[in-house]
Amino acid sequence: MNVDEPGRGGAQGIGMTSARTRERLVQRLAASGIGNEAVLERIRSVPRHLFIDEALASRAYEDSALPIGQGQTISQPYIVALMTQALLVNGVTRRLGKVLEVGTGCGYQTAVLAPLVGQLYTIERIAGLQRAARQRLQALGFGNIRFRHGDGFEGWPGRAPFDGILVAAAPAEVPSALLDQLAPEGRLVMPVGPAGGQELLRITRTATGFDRERLCSVTFVPLVEGKG
Ligand code: SAH
Repeated sequence: MNVDEPGRGGAQGIGMTSARTRERLVQRLAASGIGNEAVLERIRSVPRHLFIDEALASRAYEDSALPIGQGQTISQPYIVALMTQALLVNGVTRRLGKVLEVGTGCGYQTAVLAPLVGQLYTIERIAGLQRAARQRLQALGFGNIRFRHGDGFEGWPGRAPFDGILVAAAPAEVPSALLDQLAPEGRLVMPVGPAGGQELLRITRTATGFDRERLCSVTFVPLVEGKG
């Protein structure tokens, strides 16, 4: 992937989008408990400033969520790193084959995750965001991502089962279609619960059912039913 985008201060850009600014973010995430080197390396190499409006680019390497239009937000880098790490568990030593992402948004989480898995399928319900993310990620040269404008509550039945599923918006309860589409040993990482009371969960399919772990309290936009 070419991260040295001319004209918008790429990897070697100056000021707030420079490699040094990005490295400070990586160090901050490492100090906050992100120990997976492959994940930290992705945060280091994905140019987050190219996923948000140019007017906000100077804030791209702050550890905060930022607006991406249509009432949605690009997730906080710490949460992106935490969810990616939770999904991989053993890092790249046990590479996940097929992974589903629900809530493409601007595509930043997609870009972090794609090189760490075999094939990434990503669904977004808002057409404008979906189109923009697809164009951006294709321009950046990713070749293992399939895009869909659709409702993530339904998963992607035609491509199931998935070794991993990552959801970037919170429903009241875990959608049963997503559980159904998990492969044996597959892991689902997602926020669940009402605004103000959401928890990040990791659910693993076992021989006898599902193992549910609570990771931490989080704040996500709601998972909304139907296509936008
Ligand atoms: N990882 C993204 C997060 C975007 S916010 C990023 O960093 O940009 C969550 C996204 O989930 C929003 O774009 C929202 O439109 C989308 N979303 C909400 N409900 C959905 C659903 N049912 N199916 C697919 N996408 C959904």
